[in-house]
Amino acid sequence: MPFSSFGLSEDLLQAINDAGYTTPTPVQIQAIPAILKGRDLLAAAQTGTGKTAGFILPILQRMAQTTFSRNRPLRALILTPTRELAAQVGESVKKYGAHQNPRLKSEVVFGGVKINPQMMRLRGGVDLLTATPGRLLDLVNQNAVRLNKVEILVLDEADKMLDMGFIKDIDKLLAFLPKKRQNLLFSATFSSDIKKLTRDLLVNPVKINVDPENIAAETIDQLVYTVNKTSKTALLTHLIKTNNWQQVLVFTSSKHGANRLTEKLNAARIKAAAIHGNKSQGARTSALAGFKSGEIRVLVATDVATRGIDIAQLPHVVNFELPRSSSDYVHRIGRTGRAGQNGQAVSLISEDEYPALLLVEKLIGIKIPREQISGFEAK
Ligand code: AMP
Repeated sequence: MPFSSFGLSEDLLQAINDAGYTTPTPVQIQAIPAILKGRDLLAAAQTGTGKTAGFILPILQRMAQTTFSRNRPLRALILTPTRELAAQVGESVKKYGAHQNPRLKSEVVFGGVKINPQMMRLRGGVDLLTATPGRLLDLVNQNAVRLNKVEILVLDEADKMLDMGFIKDIDKLLAFLPKKRQNLLFSATFSSDIKKLTRDLLVNPVKINVDPENIAAETIDQLVYTVNKTSKTALLTHLIKTNNWQQVLVFTSSKHGANRLTEKLNAARIKAAAIHGNKSQGARTSALAGFKSGEIRVLVATDVATRGIDIAQLPHVVNFELPRSSSDYVHRIGRTGRAGQNGQAVSLISEDEYPALLLVEKLIGIKIPREQISGFEAK
């Protein structure tokens, strides 16, 4: 099925062509027609499935079909859990809308940076806004933006927004939106809280890929190395060096742990950088850029810092520690094996983590093969 069969406008097809996409991904095949028809959507889709283009392309098409009014009320709102994901979605909006005429005005706002420049950028109105919930609420409360003309609302990575405690902010924001609108909700996992949110928010939604067995992308090879806690750093160093891994994303459970591991890797002459919530936005952006360009070989990160980060064809993801929640495991390994590429997700598991491993396996519905490396066996 070619992209041209969706009835997307020429300028969007041109942008798809510029991006080098030849065929739509399964999520896109299902999401694009449903969104174009104006339907609500409930999509079980993790990062790497092409979900971002799956909602941005039809939103841009719908927005271009309605006329611009002079005072540019906000018409499409995309909520994301983290600044990184917001920035990335914002870039995708610009990329896919590059040939539209007239061009939509789009902006991105998130917390952790000064609010005033964001207020300035919202002056004069924007058509499409990508935002994290807390900062958007601040901006609404300061009258920098009004939400009463929003036609399309997207909740991207809704499960993570709830995990991060954004539900109160989201509820407050919803109260500012008009009752009649199109709602699109994307989530990798479906806890009872998410199910409640979908019941409250969505009207007769088209459901996509809600099969829990599909939760871990099939193109990801998953492997567990059982190892003593104290040998994890040595094992990781060994794996990177002997397998000559060049681009590795490593997850730790704490910011402190991320810093410590980064220092040890650098001491072992493996170029590493850490990204987590205590790092400034500038430090995070430059670490990510260095990682993408290949200058930094290992990016050590906590869950929150990496939500939705798009690194094309990332070959290796390592869980230095298992995450606290099993759904985070699914999100983490979603950084690899994206859009049809093969990827490998390795977890270094010490004895105290076995119960958490069983919970992960229950969620993804498969038993992950266990291996040991000689010299690093768990005792
Ligand atoms: P996402 O799941 O939205 O984060 O997208 C994951 C990656 O897939 C991004 O790097 C996109 O640029 C890429 N992508 C999206 N749609 C396609 C497609 N139809 N063909 C190839 N790559 C795609």
